This record gives sequence, C-alpha cells and structure tokens, in this order.
Amino acid sequence: MKAYRCRVCDNTLYFENSVCVSCGTALGFSRSERAIVPVDPQGRYVDASGLVWWICRNLNLSGCTWLATVTGGQCAACDLTRTRPADGDVEGLEQFRLAEQAKRHLVAELDTLGFRVVDKVADPENGLAFDLLSTSDQSGEDNVVIGHADGVITIDLAESDDAYREKVRARLAEPYRTMLGHFRHEVGHYIEWQLVRDGETQARCRELFGDESTDYQAEIDRHYAEGPPAGWESEYISTYATMHPFEDFAETWAHYLHICDTIETASEYGLTAVAPVTSFASFADVVRGVWIPLAVALNMVNRSMGKDDLYPFVIPPPVLDKLEFVASLRESGTSGRQSGT
Ligand SMILES: [Zn+2]
Ligand SMILES: [Zn+2]
Ligand SMILES: [Zn+2]
Repeated sequence: MKAYRCRVCDNTLYFENSVCVSCGTALGFSRSERAIVPVDPQGRYVDASGLVWWICRNLNLSGCTWLATVTGGQCAACDLTRTRPADGDVEGLEQFRLAEQAKRHLVAELDTLGFRVVDKVADPENGLAFDLLSTSDQSGEDNVVIGHADGVITIDLAESDDAYREKVRARLAEPYRTMLGHFRHEVGHYIEWQLVRDGETQARCRELFGDESTDYQAEIDRHYAEGPPAGWESEYISTYATMHPFEDFAETWAHYLHICDTIETASEYGLTAVAPVTSFASFADVVRGVWIPLAVALNMVNRSMGKDDLYPFVIPPPVLDKLEFVASLRESGTSGRQSGT
C-alpha cells in the first residue's frame, strides 16, 4: 500500500481516513489518481482536468471514502458488491464495514498491479461481484460458504468477527486467517477463471498446479478425511493448497498479493529500498532477493512485540515457480479480455 499524505497539511494518512486527523480536512480516495484528495464540505473534488467527483454515498454505511462520478452515487468499488446485509441487520452491517474495507484494499492493489476488475453490471459474463452475506440474514442457518462461482464471490461476514475467525483458524490449524486473506484467495479463483482459459497458459498452469478437472468434491472430502499428504511442505504454500489444483492456484495467488502489497508498504515507508515489484523481470527474484529477507525481519519485529509472525510461511522452490506463473498473468491481465469493458 502507498504511503498517503494530506495535500493540505502533509500529515501521513491511512488508506481508510475520511478526515485528516491533523488539519480536519475531509478526504476522498481518487481511484484514477491513486491518491487521497481533499473534498469540500459538500463532499466534492474537482480534479486537474476540471472533472467533478463526489464522495461515495456509502461513507456512513460502510466507511467508503472512494470518489463517485455523480452526486449521491456510489463508487466503482461499491458497485462490485451485489448483496449486503439488510438495513435493519445491525450486527451484519458492522461486519460488512470491515469486509468492505478489506475489499477496497484488494481492489486498490489489483489496480496497482494492473488487474483492473469490472463489476457484473458492466460486464454480466466476465465481470466480478461480491455477495457479502451475514449469517444473521440466513434465517438462523449457519451455513454461508465462502467461495467463487462464475465471477461471484461469496464472503461469510461472520469472519469479520475476531473471536469467531480465531476459533475457525485454530480448528483448521491454519497459521493465518484474515478477512483480507479471504478476499485475496477468492479473487484468485476469479483470476484463474478469467485468465487461464486455453493454450499455453493453461498447459503451463496444469504442469505446475495439476489437472484442474479432478473431481473437486472428492478431493475436498479426501482432504478433510485424511489431511494433507506427507511432505506437503516441499511443494505447497499451505495445507489448504494441497486440496485441489484450483485451491493451490488461489492460495499461491493470495501469497502473490500478500507479498506485492507488503513489499510496497515497506518500501513506501523506507523499511526496504526497492523498485516497484512490477518492474522486475522475474518475480522469483523478488521473492528470493527482497521478500524472504524482509519477511524474516518483519517476523522478528512482530516477535519483539510478543505477536505471532507476520508471515508464518516457508516458500519451497516449487512454490517459487508457481508464484512466477501467477505473476506472469499480469500481461494478460492488463491487455487481455478484461480491458475495453
Ligand atoms: Zn491534513
Ligand atoms: Zn464506495
Ligand atoms: Zn478457494
């Protein structure tokens, strides 16, 4: 994530800030400028070309600070959400706020990397939509299943609750479980669906991740019955990745996003001096030369605060190849089927 500064007083800003805590200026996020900009008391911002933007109408509902093209309208990030908790669902809406925050973080990073996503209204066939479902909305049935199908990502908003998510994390013996991680993983399924369709790309994907036509449910059942295969650590980034080629791809993709974003943040704040990750010819070089030393340092920083490791993973050589592959999809992501819509 970029290091944002207030254009009025130069104070450091968090990506989520709607007001500068130092000078009191109201703020909005301009997706086109990739900057936090001041808005006037009417919530309006005029850009350098004279175009007028308005703060998203969901500011109070979800804390969205992104700018919209019309007054009283919602921004492009909010357009991605197809389903949200009902107005009367107080608990669901509180969880929704946190989920939307993670979603905006995801979209900003995809923009940075050149995977610009469009919503399903603009492109019903290839677009992306989020159903952010609250269990309290499901008439008492506790079964929102996180997943992706044909461009629709379902998120269980209960995962916004720290106590609930920690319970699930411990039960599944996962080293890491966050709302942002869920968004990154699920959008990986969408990216594979969009960008790995045919030809050489698909052949290479199969070589690395395995045959994705393997029966999904049978593999999931096997995983939950038998656990991960012995020695999984030498080929996969996580036990979840061992389940099925689709899950391996999504897990690898999530790590690609974890790594790119964390390097950018560290670099923006002067913790490491490195060119943008997108300027390297080999992503594996970025991982070996920049990420691994940085991750170790950040783990040590966390330990100094008595916290768990920031990056509790080990990257074996086959995962470097898989990361190289997902990073290579940038080219098709920027100039392929998603452009022009
Ligand atoms: Zn300020
Ligand atoms: Zn918005
Ligand atoms: Zn998945």
